[in-house]
Amino acid sequence: MSTEIEEIPQRNGVLREILSKIAGEHGLEIADALSKGEATDEELAKKLNIQLNLVRKILYDLYDNRVVSYRRVRDDNTGWYVYYWKMEPDRAIELFMNNKRILLNKLEERLKFERNNMFFSCKNKCPRLTFDEATEYDFKCPRCGEELEPFDNRPIIDALERQMGALRREFLES
Ligand SMILES: [Zn+2]
Repeated sequence: MSTEIEEIPQRNGVLREILSKIAGEHGLEIADALSKGEATDEELAKKLNIQLNLVRKILYDLYDNRVVSYRRVRDDNTGWYVYYWKMEPDRAIELFMNNKRILLNKLEERLKFERNNMFFSCKNKCPRLTFDEATEYDFKCPRCGEELEPFDNRPIIDALERQMGALRREFLES
């Protein structure tokens, strides 16, 4: 039984993150085995000493997420179909990157909102308000009635910029 991540070719870090998210530790083992070539669910179960039902569940989970694909072959003797599974690392990474891109877009929107608005809050840590909202409430907190004061959102902007910087670096590295 092997959980050596190094055995999954190329861009290991990204793949590892996807696989463990989708299918846990056994998902990584199965991906590892498939990265060496096609295999049936029964072969995987035997090789990795994992219950066949669990192997199938993991394969379907991976398939749902487009991380694996299969080739179906009819067995002439039994008339049954045999499924040969294989890894789709490029599709997996594409999916993963799309998710990152969506996240990055959301962060960009949020950053724009933070930069384009002035915020106000009370001493009691009630939810902050935008300038327009604060004006509506005559600069009194709608929750507790305390006076509203300017709220410094610089730490939020810094945190967003840090998070976006980290995401962009991941894009460059992949
Ligand atoms: Zn308040």
